[in-house]
Amino acid sequence: MSIEFDAVILGGGPAGSTVATLLAQAGKRVVVLEKEHFPRYHIGESLLPATVSIFERLGVHDAVRKTSVLKPGGKWLYGSHEVPGDFTRYDDQASFQRTPYSYLVDREVFDKILLDRSAECGADVRYGHEVVDLIQEAGRVTGVVAVDDVGNRAEYRGRLVIDATGLGAVIGRRLKLRQPTVNQRMGIYAQYRAEPIHRDAIDGWFVGQMFYDGWTWLINLPDDTISVGVVLPVERFRKINSSPEELLERMVRENDLLKNGMTPNPVRVSEVRVTGNMGNSSKQLAGEGWVMVGDAGFFIDPCYSSGVHVAMESATMVADLLLQQPDGVVIPATAFRQYESKLRKHEKYVTRMVEAFYMASRNTTLQKVIVTMQDSFLKSMRRKFVTFVGGDFSKNSAYITRVYLYSKFISWLFPNNTTLPENRPDYLVNPVVPFVPPTNIEDREIRKAA
Ligand SMILES: Cc1cc2nc3c(=O)[nH]c(=O)nc-3n(C[C@H](O)[C@H](O)[C@H](O)COP(=O)(O)OP(=O)(O)OC[C@H]3O[C@@H](n4cnc5c(N)ncnc54)[C@H](O)[C@@H]3O)c2cc1C
Repeated sequence: MSIEFDAVILGGGPAGSTVATLLAQAGKRVVVLEKEHFPRYHIGESLLPATVSIFERLGVHDAVRKTSVLKPGGKWLYGSHEVPGDFTRYDDQASFQRTPYSYLVDREVFDKILLDRSAECGADVRYGHEVVDLIQEAGRVTGVVAVDDVGNRAEYRGRLVIDATGLGAVIGRRLKLRQPTVNQRMGIYAQYRAEPIHRDAIDGWFVGQMFYDGWTWLINLPDDTISVGVVLPVERFRKINSSPEELLERMVRENDLLKNGMTPNPVRVSEVRVTGNMGNSSKQLAGEGWVMVGDAGFFIDPCYSSGVHVAMESATMVADLLLQQPDGVVIPATAFRQYESKLRKHEKYVTRMVEAFYMASRNTTLQKVIVTMQDSFLKSMRRKFVTFVGGDFSKNSAYITRVYLYSKFISWLFPNNTTLPENRPDYLVNPVVPFVPPTNIEDREIRKAA
């Protein structure tokens, strides 16, 4: 069996559903091949304000708002210091001036809202369909082969094949375009049934605590669920000599932010999951008959919660591009040049800021400089920072380059000023300058009563 579509979309995460909805709304014939059945768990719960206008365009903003926690911004704890990214403090470059807030979402719910919307707009959404092969004819990708839950194989052909399979990266793997970038860090995470008692978490802030070369997070989700995770170098994880589950459970019991950030005895309500490859890219993002959107193109360490925004923005760009193409004409790879160049800028600047983040995690002098930058005499710097963390990754590129180069310079100037005593293998659990929680359980009770 072979069916013809305007676009064959592989994967129904935020990237796949976004491109599907926009094309279906414009009357295009699209199919989404998704290997799972929704709702299904996915990591990536902290969203950015720049994405809110995409929710509006898709017609899902109300549904997202009703099922999530309003997020005013993100807060990073550097030892006893705090670096806030308050989304209302943007600069005049920011695209999100009308909507300076975002959401903390349960991805089971969020991804289903998005993909249900695609179906509602007319996309042919097929769950339980795993893409297993590409169809290539005369140097051009013209379709894919998918196998459904009961083992039926079928071919799906289209004018354009859009790879939105996330880290599955069907096209990248098949065409051998995948290339690791920074894959020495891993993420370990789970959800707990508990209530936040950390003031900022209660108020919907993303809260992260930096330690040497890594970080932990605490995210308040709907229905008394808290997302907890840790990112650390693979090499250090090996030295700790425990399973991911043991490490995460120990951090929940002993790490200052996690232990004091939620009500006592939190009950784990998900498996402990691991993402081992926290950085990879693709030699090309588009070719003859195909294009990649979201994580399928590249994946960068999630310390700035950039993934879902890049996924949905890249999907929007591809949908708009396809809608500009005249009907019935083959879309050449060159049509995606501007798309690729814009996404590569995102990749470059987010990567630079990620590198600066980890340089700071290893250097207390740099941490102090960053904390000072938040002070009033450098307000314009702080506003540029907020514009970046709000999702405008390629704006203020000169500022980003300066942050990156200054971070390198300071790290070079004070090379021994590290926060990792090599003789302390438990550094993850007890950062050198412990975080003192600004609130307590009684305060939480008072707030609830109010
Ligand atoms: C530890 C960690 C923390 C993170 N935290 C955040 C965060 O706070 N905020 C944020 O924005 N991002 C975060 N991310 C990143 C975020 O998870 C991704 O960037 C985002 O989900 C990308 O969306 P996507 O649609 O490109 O891919 P995905 O959401 O991965 O969707 C891909 C879909 O394709 C399907 N699929 C895969 N292979 C096939 C196949 N062969 N055939 C058919 N279907 C297939 C999958 O089932 C899936 O539904 C985090 C990532 C990690 C690892």
